[in-house]
Amino acid sequence: MTTTVYHNANLLTCDQSGNRASAMAVLDGRITAIGNDGTVMAAAGAGAESIDLAGKTIMPGLIDVHNHHAIAGRAILYEVVFPPSLDFDGILAAVRSACETMTGERWAVGGNFGSHHLERIDTLDALRQLDDASSGRPVSLRDDSYHNRWCNTAAMQAAGIDSTTLVPGQGKISTDPSTGRATGLLVEAATALVDAVSEEANYGDPAINQKAAAHAIGVLNSYGVTAFQDAMTFHGMLANLADLDLKGELKAWVVATLPAHAVMYLPGPMGTDLFKVKEQFRTRHVRPDFAKFFLDGVPMTRTSAMLEPYRPSAAFGCCYRGGTTLTLPQFAKMVAECERHGLAVKVHCTGDGSVRLALDGFDIVRDFEGPSDLRHQIAHAVFVDPEDIKRMAALQVTADLSPVLWYPAIFEQAIRAAVPDKLVDRMAPIRDLVEAGVSIAGGSDWPVAPTPDLWDGLEGMVTRRNPSGGYDGQLGPEQAIDVQTAIRAYTLGSAEVMGLDAETGSLEVGKSADFIIIDRDVTKIASNQIAQTKVLSTWFEGAKVYER
Ligand SMILES: [Zn+2]
Repeated sequence: MTTTVYHNANLLTCDQSGNRASAMAVLDGRITAIGNDGTVMAAAGAGAESIDLAGKTIMPGLIDVHNHHAIAGRAILYEVVFPPSLDFDGILAAVRSACETMTGERWAVGGNFGSHHLERIDTLDALRQLDDASSGRPVSLRDDSYHNRWCNTAAMQAAGIDSTTLVPGQGKISTDPSTGRATGLLVEAATALVDAVSEEANYGDPAINQKAAAHAIGVLNSYGVTAFQDAMTFHGMLANLADLDLKGELKAWVVATLPAHAVMYLPGPMGTDLFKVKEQFRTRHVRPDFAKFFLDGVPMTRTSAMLEPYRPSAAFGCCYRGGTTLTLPQFAKMVAECERHGLAVKVHCTGDGSVRLALDGFDIVRDFEGPSDLRHQIAHAVFVDPEDIKRMAALQVTADLSPVLWYPAIFEQAIRAAVPDKLVDRMAPIRDLVEAGVSIAGGSDWPVAPTPDLWDGLEGMVTRRNPSGGYDGQLGPEQAIDVQTAIRAYTLGSAEVMGLDAETGSLEVGKSADFIIIDRDVTKIASNQIAQTKVLSTWFEGAKVYER
């Protein structure tokens, strides 16, 4: 192999000291020198190939600490896809046109409808309209939180659901108050009843899933992502990733997060059964190093566990605070079990009550088991009580943050309908987290977010505004962070908390040559221009994997 020198560049190393350089040498996918043009060219020697970047900006490939790549890939290739802003009639039209062209026994699966439709769809009239649009084909649509489904009569029949079906956990089959008939709205754990059947009908073939995963990673590369943490990795998905890597077709570092317990339908083994076989799937780029917990749901459906009550409502009364899926003893015991398997945990907590339980659990585990190098993560960390911020720092717990879930937008409006303003105004206290010494990591939560565009989240962290301009206002401007800190959350900061910092996350000698060439220097432009950054090309281990 010959050395390649990229020179005449505006190179942001994103290393611990934030050094800049103008040249970088790469051999066999690794960075062998970094510095100014003269020293790097001299170090590379006469036989090196040189690429003049004409002053363009290079930085490390971005890291997404939270996405669901395979689910996103399936949606793009095989499902009915529409934006959460689509109106009710638009949703019916999308279903109608999909069902007209579909063949075979497949379900029309897709989404994501906005949570603001939940009330309207929870009626027999809406069910009748969905039945009309689907000409007898089973339909299961997700809402924008992914925690709820809207199904037609054919789907409920195929899944054996009626108003008498027992639902595990905190799930609910919503029924019409006057007739008692199921409306087709399935909440939280009840979604498992249809997902199990649609999964088998649409995704029984592993080849379909592998194609979806590879496609999704191509999309991630197009946004400059070269490493990510899949936030919920089923057994089959893990096997697909390992297989892609062994074939030389995996174009990113992937940290897998294995389901620790079942709160929704999951194909294949989970929990200890999956932990026991995880090492079979470890490859050079696939790291099964995390386990996933869901301690609560989402604020819009009042399934987040809150320390203070939701807004009063007819259905929930004056003082409802939601609840957690596990008790403290259950959670602590399960975290200790994960640690014994060498797994750190990523815990979905959207309420401040579930954050508190998670921290109590980590505290107990540390008391019994002593210190550990495993760095646990709280996913979303939307509501965090000020007292718990210090505890997150003391327990070395990472905040996994996705600005799309809280900056002014359709999500934030739906949260405001359920949660008092004084709490919503305090969402995502990022600056307080950083100042307390909590590690922050940036994630897209794609496909909950419509794209894995990390520039959008990066701008959101800096401006606390919606970069699209479609929504006015600023959420808690005092919690904004500077651009360097935000970039760190999407590069080296994420690499550290995912256990990948020896390989990637910054441009330094010895690390993998994972980098992007972009159309502007994000550290030097107005903060409201960050989201418009375009990736010109993406390089993984020194090879170009995307070009605009
Ligand atoms: Zn997620």
